[in-house]
Amino acid sequence: EKLRSQEAIELEDKYGAHNYHPLPVVLSRGEGVYVWDAEGKQYYDFLSAYSAVNQGHCHPKIVGAMVNQAQTLTLTSRAFYNDKLGVYEQYITNYFGFDKVLPMNTGAEAVETALKICRKWAYEKKGIAENEAQIIVCDGNFHGRTTTIISFSNDENARKNFGPYTAGFIKIPYDDTEALEKALTSSQNVAGFLVEPIQGEAGVYVPSEDFLAKAQALCAAHNVLFIADEVQTGIARTGSLLAVCGNCNCEKSCEKQATYVQPDILILGKALSGGAYPVSAVLANDAIMNVIKPGQHGSTFGGNPVAAATAIAALEVVEEEGLAANARRLGQLFRDLLQEYVTESNIVTLVRGKGLLNAIVINDTEESETAWNICVKLAENGLLAKPTHGNIIRFAPPLVMTEEQLRDCVAIIIKTLKAFEP
Ligand code: PMP
Repeated sequence: EKLRSQEAIELEDKYGAHNYHPLPVVLSRGEGVYVWDAEGKQYYDFLSAYSAVNQGHCHPKIVGAMVNQAQTLTLTSRAFYNDKLGVYEQYITNYFGFDKVLPMNTGAEAVETALKICRKWAYEKKGIAENEAQIIVCDGNFHGRTTTIISFSNDENARKNFGPYTAGFIKIPYDDTEALEKALTSSQNVAGFLVEPIQGEAGVYVPSEDFLAKAQALCAAHNVLFIADEVQTGIARTGSLLAVCGNCNCEKSCEKQATYVQPDILILGKALSGGAYPVSAVLANDAIMNVIKPGQHGSTFGGNPVAAATAIAALEVVEEEGLAANARRLGQLFRDLLQEYVTESNIVTLVRGKGLLNAIVINDTEESETAWNICVKLAENGLLAKPTHGNIIRFAPPLVMTEEQLRDCVAIIIKTLKAFEP
């Protein structure tokens, strides 16, 4: 007997910690771009679990690989080898063009891992004095909510009263190569630059065309690691396999493409499993990854056989179904169709984004509830989205969407927004 929506909400509110503020929609099934609530109402998923379900809900190939492995062997821990991990490690390192991978489970965990690798590298290979390594990060960043990560967050709600904080971070404005150069020059102790190629949680900020390439070159010139957090932007979301692939039209990253910016450390999560299972990864070449020795990092579930089997299938789907090209084409169409309305609108001032990671800016204050109310109305009209701030709504549908479905979604969005026009 399925719980009806109201009962499910009451149970979560009563027994679950209140660390989220969900829209009042209870989902019980998903397939492709659609999800259904407990009463059977159908919605377009226009958030994809914050860009995790890029391959669509319950993709048969991904779920098939996961279930098949779950019936064979689920977990050994890393106390032993398992027969799937090495195969996956070979597959993912070839796929993204790195020597080695360190498998983890969640995005925040992978970011923590990358920061540890970067510091160890700085002490062993760069000769920075112990405990002195510094990592440059950007204003408006979102990399997760562990204690170290919130130590350099601008989000006071996520940061305040959770100290003491981890030291060793220098903050610069996003998309500002002058500030980066200044920070790199100001200290001999800089070990890395951690950056989102597009800032997702902050409200989908796409940096200047040449920002990543210039930042990478500056880091290289100062022997500082360029660390790309592609947890949200990666796996075809922004119209190329990775956002650091720039405007490259192939489905794979490779150093040969003129617009590709090679990170020293690449962080992936979310859609690495198509949202089917918690899988994240840190990729780097030997000169960096080999600083980590047995016992210095790990996780019981990291690299488990179910994760390995699921991630291989999820990455195969990205290539087989041409998801980067679809995201690129439909993303452009989405912005073009919405722009026509935005130009005339008094409530929406801007539509921005890349591929199928987009946002609209509502003409109201950050403290207002307008964006929230719009999302409630969108849900009533059959489309699920969530504000990232009081006045920004992010749109990130599964990348398996068809043009017909996308046009239908734009019609729902415009119809809903029109009801809020003054
Ligand atoms: N990095 C980025 C860029 C993210 O967008 C997120 C999640 N929104 C994370 C890290 C954290 O991932 P997780 O929630 O899986 O810990």
